Amino acid sequence: NRAGTLAASQFPLITALGTKNNIVSLITGIGYDKAILNYVHRMMSRVVFVLLCVHAGGEVVLDAPFQPYLKEPWLICGIVAGVAFAILCVVSLRPIRAQAYELFFYVHFVMVLTFLICSYFHTTYDSITYWIYPCFAIWGFDRLIRALRLVIFNFGWRSESMMDATAELLSDDFVRLRFHRPSHFHWAPGQTAYLIMPSVSRLPFEAHPFTIASFDSELFQEGQPQCEKPIQDSMAQHSLGSSTPFWKEVVFFINVRKGFTARLKEAALNGDKVKVAVDGPYGSSFDLGSYDTSVLIAGGSGVSYTLPTLLNIIERVRNGKSSCRRVVFIWSIRNADYIHWIDETLIRALQLAPPSLSISIRIYATSAPSTIQSLPHSYGSNDGPQAVLDDSKSEIGELEDVTAKGDIKDSLLAIEAVKLENGRCDLPSVLRDEVEMATGRMCVGVCGSQAMARSVRGALQFPVSSPLSVANGGPSVTLHVESFGFA
Ligand SMILES: Cc1cc2nc3c(=O)[nH]c(=O)nc-3n(C[C@H](O)[C@H](O)[C@H](O)COP(=O)(O)OP(=O)(O)OC[C@H]3O[C@@H](n4cnc5c(N)ncnc54)[C@H](O)[C@@H]3O)c2cc1C
Repeated sequence: NRAGTLAASQFPLITALGTKNNIVSLITGIGYDKAILNYVHRMMSRVVFVLLCVHAGGEVVLDAPFQPYLKEPWLICGIVAGVAFAILCVVSLRPIRAQAYELFFYVHFVMVLTFLICSYFHTTYDSITYWIYPCFAIWGFDRLIRALRLVIFNFGWRSESMMDATAELLSDDFVRLRFHRPSHFHWAPGQTAYLIMPSVSRLPFEAHPFTIASFDSELFQEGQPQCEKPIQDSMAQHSLGSSTPFWKEVVFFINVRKGFTARLKEAALNGDKVKVAVDGPYGSSFDLGSYDTSVLIAGGSGVSYTLPTLLNIIERVRNGKSSCRRVVFIWSIRNADYIHWIDETLIRALQLAPPSLSISIRIYATSAPSTIQSLPHSYGSNDGPQAVLDDSKSEIGELEDVTAKGDIKDSLLAIEAVKLENGRCDLPSVLRDEVEMATGRMCVGVCGSQAMARSVRGALQFPVSSPLSVANGGPSVTLHVESFGFA
């Protein structure tokens, strides 16, 4: 009946929306990792499930009594397909995905296969299989692309040809994973890669998405950049050594959860080298560099998103490809010692920043006050946004003095553009100040907890940012929220 045909006509689109390499992403530029495509995939599936119920109900009424048909293979296939689809709808509910992702993943895989095969035989009865086989083609195409990427980036499937990665335990709940960049592997800030680690995974084909925290750029790799601050470069090489991984390697900051990431933590504790295959990069990169003012806000591992974005803005301003005038980099961390994760990188970034770009780095440590108290008094002071407007000039002299002392974290904190504060960031107040100061176009990018994203959303509501404030000469503000999870 019509409901069944309507439902079948949606299968190819639903399949496309559920695959990593799909034509919808190609046309719209919206990556698979963005919650929106996944959301549409699930919503369409639920609507189709209702249509399938209408289809089945209609057939039961129209063909009554339907019992004689129960032995017909096409009807058996239809019933099995319907049951598989119902199971799919149940396991895809958010609480199940959040609590038992691996269960969801494998049940989803088996049920989709069952559903499509049974649907194919069911629809041969009405000769509408042309809605079904495109689904196999779309799915097969995605798998082919992924297999090709894996082979190209990882040089083969055999374990000995996979890359060696170093897993370092940065704190009780954070692991840093790094490995040499495969020669063909390039990415943009904010992009994600799926990591496959057979020695860490419990299940075959287990792949977990993580945002690439390092920056793929020639500029930051150069030994002698043609920079406006040549004195600083020799100092940079001296102070940073050759270990800075952010522009030579693929780096991930991984928050330890209960499954795969907990096993990765064990590997890091044991000091094991892990074999890794990388599938990606995925996702589109939101262009935060095309604004006059950019405010980058991260919580914990959310810095994987904001750090390469900051480096990208600096590079683009240097190359004359962005007219950004001010960047505010806010990072909320539990412990001040986490600064070590990226201190060398931030120093390098400040060195390379052209004088036309004002950079303000504010780090908020929400616990471990002892660490902060041991730091010089000025590190904890908050001079407000105005005070850091000319930081890119004043920091130079200070940098030279402090990096020689050896401790890179202290070197970073001695730069006037960098503030470390104890406690939570008062995001509404910081954003209000930035909006007041800004003119032109302003962008706020946030990657952290849901509470952080909510707070930023709330802070930018009327009257801070509105058509009225723009009419009064204020900036037009764009908010970009990056989340580490599907909706
Ligand atoms: C686009 C994207 C980028 C991400 N970037 C980062 C990052 O840079 N750093 C970081 O620490 N985390 C990141 N995450 C989250 C990270 O993928 C999960 O925390 C990780 O997969 C959890 O693994 P686990 O087995 O230890 O989780 P569990 O303890 O089993 O579950 C914890 C949560 O992770 C979700 N999850 C588990 N496996 C997957 C999977 N294969 N795919 C998607 N979600 C999963 C579960 O639904 C659950 O909500 C990102 C997620 C996405 C979708």
